[in-house]
Amino acid sequence: MMPRRLPILATLALFVSLTTGVARAAAPPVTERQRTAVARLLGEALTRDDAYEGLRELCDRIGHRLSGSAQLDSAIAWSMRRLRAQGFSRVRAEPAMVPAWVRGEERATLLEPVRRELSMLGIGMSVGTPPGGITAEVVTVSDFDQLEALGEAGVRGRIVLFDAPFTNYSQTVRYRSAGASRAAKLGAVAVLVRSVGPVSLDTPHTGALSYVDSLPRIPAACLSLEDAAMLHRLTDSGARVRVHLQMGAHQGPDVASANVVAEVPGTDLAREIVLVSGHLDSWDVGQGAHDDGAGCLIAMEAAHLIHRLGLKPRRTIRVVLWTNEENGTRGARAYAQAHRDAIADHAAVIESDAGNGAVLGFQLDVRPPAGATAADSAAATRERDRALAMLQAWAPLFEPLGATRMSVGGAGADVGHLCAAGAAGLGVDHDMTRYFDVHHTRADTFDKIDRTTLGRNVAAVAIMTYLLADSPERLRARPTAAHR
Ligand SMILES: [Zn+2]
Repeated sequence: MMPRRLPILATLALFVSLTTGVARAAAPPVTERQRTAVARLLGEALTRDDAYEGLRELCDRIGHRLSGSAQLDSAIAWSMRRLRAQGFSRVRAEPAMVPAWVRGEERATLLEPVRRELSMLGIGMSVGTPPGGITAEVVTVSDFDQLEALGEAGVRGRIVLFDAPFTNYSQTVRYRSAGASRAAKLGAVAVLVRSVGPVSLDTPHTGALSYVDSLPRIPAACLSLEDAAMLHRLTDSGARVRVHLQMGAHQGPDVASANVVAEVPGTDLAREIVLVSGHLDSWDVGQGAHDDGAGCLIAMEAAHLIHRLGLKPRRTIRVVLWTNEENGTRGARAYAQAHRDAIADHAAVIESDAGNGAVLGFQLDVRPPAGATAADSAAATRERDRALAMLQAWAPLFEPLGATRMSVGGAGADVGHLCAAGAAGLGVDHDMTRYFDVHHTRADTFDKIDRTTLGRNVAAVAIMTYLLADSPERLRARPTAAHR
């Protein structure tokens, strides 16, 4: 029997050595020193309340933080004081000009067939109505095809209600972002949009729209799911439905704002940077607790823990709290522009902007350059696969947190600008089951933040940041020349 079994064993041994060889090429082995550091980060993150207490202060003492608002300025000053007090180096405000959109007074009143106030929130960046408001008959559509089918004859002079069922965010958000211009093209005078979320307790959602330059700019507001459904039932019943919309929304000239930047210096590879980030701005309702106060505290505390424990990873850790993610990503654009000659020094760029649901893993964003040749695309795919193998080799270190899901996906709206320039992006992959219940609503408040989950999220991001800053290998070696 033995002689016949040997070749099988030999084949197995060869297979094992080959596969571990491949894994080694992608991910250098985790050293004992690194394992110890990971264990200390985990223990420290799960027993400290700094992130939770910091987020409470941000939410309750400052509140929501729209671009151009005094509260955003306060939040910038608050986070810089906090980072300095925690011993970060080179704490600074890097300037960015941001839009100054103001909601103003707003209301939507159903006039016919019954009179009642509607539960609404104007959509960010919308124009206001004329001073006397707009009164018009409502036509309801469930999607853009139905809008096109109505044509100009069915739309001109009317208010269009988009009552699109929530499927997923990226699909459904199109009605909020593009609905106004699509309806204006057919002569609509205003649009109402069913809020973009799966459930509602009379909680309308805001968000940003973008107008097509060549088309008239008409006012746009979101309705609660409840009121969108009611108007849809009324129009379906054949009733004449008339609404009066009054919106004081307006936009002033751009104003000065800033990204907050702070560092934990590296050692022998200090020139290289692992950037960890969240966005400090929010919509002008609620407290911006999940979006994205949590992400800011996760980024700050992850870096703070590494510094506090004196772990001294090789690369510099740079915390960035972005300004103006919600209505322009001007902070991210300004950073990408200001640091355009140093993109290659960014070994990885991390963003947490998906609320405080439990971290399940990380999403890898490695892109070919814009207008890539087939060869560039193939090279980027190879780099991405190599980086993914490196993350997967680290996944067992995240097992205590259940954060082992390493996948390919978007890293975040802000770091996306750096990914486009060739940096390797990592999005923190949060459980988003409940995120869109409160996203961009008055209900995005601190009471919705789970203390234990926040600590675990800080732990996962601290461990990933540390590994990326200390590993001999980078996720992506250097951007190709084609990225520049
Ligand atoms: Zn966000």
